[in-house]
Amino acid sequence: SVKEHGRSHYRYYREDMTTIFPNEALMEAHLRRAIEFNELSLHLQPQMDLMSNSINSFEALLRWNNRKFGFVSPAQFIPIAEASGLIIEIGDWIIDEVCRYQREWQLKGYRPVRVAVNISPKQFRKENFARKIKATLQKYEVPPELLEVEITESSMTNVHETFSILTELKQLGVYVSVDDFGTGYSSLSYLKRYPIDIIKIDQSFIADIAKDDKNEAIIKAIISMSHNLGLEVVAEGIEEPTQVDFLKRHHCQKGQGYLYNKPLPVDIIEQQYFVS
Ligand code: C2E
Ligand code: MG
Ligand code: MG
Ligand code: MG
Repeated sequence: SVKEHGRSHYRYYREDMTTIFPNEALMEAHLRRAIEFNELSLHLQPQMDLMSNSINSFEALLRWNNRKFGFVSPAQFIPIAEASGLIIEIGDWIIDEVCRYQREWQLKGYRPVRVAVNISPKQFRKENFARKIKATLQKYEVPPELLEVEITESSMTNVHETFSILTELKQLGVYVSVDDFGTGYSSLSYLKRYPIDIIKIDQSFIADIAKDDKNEAIIKAIISMSHNLGLEVVAEGIEEPTQVDFLKRHHCQKGQGYLYNKPLPVDIIEQQYFVS
């Protein structure tokens, strides 16, 4: 039964179940103690290789089940964590958790998979970010190529700073992806300037496939540009088979979305994708 699993209270998280805190100050106060009270958990969403129909990577998504108010959506609490600085501690927690699971899976003999972790601007730009990643990888003896760092264009505010952090990450051997691609305001020149490996096409573009010709032209252009630059492309928010058809026709390698699976607790992921 569900109760046999330790983290059963996270099992039924659904977007439509999330509550709203009465105010931000109260949310911040509760968020401050979320780690201590074991209210945070890691969920994983599989990324489908569209050509081979296999799953070799996942995205880590944070879940917060507050003891008083219930599930709170990341869209609500991540900005509060970012503004208050709590994102540093929470961000360290999630990287540690991902690496801890990687170690556990290694010891269980599971096949190696890559896990992508979302990194907020404040966390990315905090001094020693790359060194902390390195220390956590070493702590759990995780090969760097099994970790992916997802940043958004909003992290790339300072050219020299961004270049130096990304270069450190590259030397370390972790993958770097640009999340929500196509929604920021940056000049595309960063794509030639920085050592980036993966582009994640924002889900708003995917949602409009088969509804809008201009939108399809944009997706095609993103995919072909990525390939010409030697970057991997991941489509986010796939919900319909017609979207997969379109993406495959245009050689998009990977996709994630509710069509394949929602983000799920780690024990469910293990049963579905590792234990044969
Ligand atoms: P994101 O990184 O762009 O993550 C994708 C979001 O889309 C996730 O929402 C995911 O559950 C949702 N999603 C996946 N497939 C589909 C689909 O087919 N349809 C629709 N409509 N949505 C889909 P989630 O988990 O609520 O996270 C929202 C945002 O919060 C993330 O956007 C990310 O920016 C942030 N976030 C989540 N976890 C973390 C974390 O550990 N650290 C940081 N810094 N940010 C996080
Ligand atoms: Mg992401
Ligand atoms: Mg995204
Ligand atoms: Mg995002």
